[in-house]
Amino acid sequence: MRSETTTTSKKDRLKKLAGRLQLDEQGTLTLDGERTMVIPASVLTTIRAVGEAILGHGVSGIQYLAGEFWGRSVGRTLRTKGVGRDVKEVLRILGDQSFLRGFGRLEIGSLDEETGLAVWRIYNSPFTEGPVIEEAHHCYFLAGFGAGILSVLTGNEVICREKRCKAEDAPYCEFSTELTPY
Ligand SMILES: [Zn+2]
Repeated sequence: MRSETTTTSKKDRLKKLAGRLQLDEQGTLTLDGERTMVIPASVLTTIRAVGEAILGHGVSGIQYLAGEFWGRSVGRTLRTKGVGRDVKEVLRILGDQSFLRGFGRLEIGSLDEETGLAVWRIYNSPFTEGPVIEEAHHCYFLAGFGAGILSVLTGNEVICREKRCKAEDAPYCEFSTELTPY
């Protein structure tokens, strides 16, 4: 019975997501007005793997900074809409969006809304699939995103590390934030 309810809920959510999509005559797909593409996760992981082959570990920093940039941008947008004052509510929305957009299921382990210190887990991160690369932890983009959005929402600069990664056989990817040392 419960699984039927869950399946119905997922179908309803997918219908709502479809209602937010627009497609024009030029093949431009938008979600809530933002240009969007439906691509296999392997496109991202292949770009990461090729970047690592060319740049070595430096590509991890690029992914982290790109994620941080995006996280800050999302945080500022939510602030502008008046949503960002309640950090827990923002994380609930992010968890919902992460699930719907295929980034995996978000679970918050702990959160200090004043400092931005937090622990969270992503189940089934798309960044853990695709070609094998040298470094064990793969999800620098997600780590950067978490640091960026929490820094904006709390006004307290934090950095984020991925402590466990599904790519190294953990059941989930686990992230935690620390205050910046500078
Ligand atoms: Zn990971």
